[in-house]
Amino acid sequence: MSAADELQKVADEVSVCTLCTLHHSRKLAVPGEGPANADIMFIGEGPGFHENEQGRPFVGAAGKFLDELLAKINLKRSDVFIGNVVKCRPPGNRDPLPDELGSCSGYLERQITAINPKVIVTLGRFSLAHFVPNAKIGEIHGQAMRIKGRLVVAMYHPAAGLHQRSLMGTIEQDFRMLPELISKAGPTPEQPEPASVEKNEPKQLTFF
Ligand code: URA
Repeated sequence: MSAADELQKVADEVSVCTLCTLHHSRKLAVPGEGPANADIMFIGEGPGFHENEQGRPFVGAAGKFLDELLAKINLKRSDVFIGNVVKCRPPGNRDPLPDELGSCSGYLERQITAINPKVIVTLGRFSLAHFVPNAKIGEIHGQAMRIKGRLVVAMYHPAAGLHQRSLMGTIEQDFRMLPELISKAGPTPEQPEPASVEKNEPKQLTFF
């Protein structure tokens, strides 16, 4: 099955998913969107009010800020895949519960495997916890970690910048690292390294 077909299959399953109670209150599930061959995958927390209405990720105020951050590094939303750890809106925008995160994590893993991105950017603590439980964004944001052979970078959620303006510069600075990180990412787990290419990992990376 092609990556695009697998993404479509995940989206179809998510749209009728009843694995957790969030399906009772959702209007539309939000599987995520973007090219099946995206180099970067942004993973947020979960749909909010506007996302639940439209079935698309990051279409509210945080999404507008995400678009601006992407534009600063010459990327458009259509260049990247944008998804969430939970695909249905937690009522009142409350934090997702452990069983909801657990029910949805298989969908996210299938999306990651299908897209096979060079870099995953976690936006916010729930997304970071999917990869590194108990890590603190304040301590590791902007550092690339190699997890299961893939680069993962933790960043603050764009909404954090909107609520706490002092974080905006930090978020922007972290985004500015992305182009170089992508260019130096090396092979992804499903892309064996060609024998003739010398491995050249960025020096500042933290490896887990
Ligand atoms: N916040 C998220 O984490 N995800 C969205 O899709 C929108 C807002």
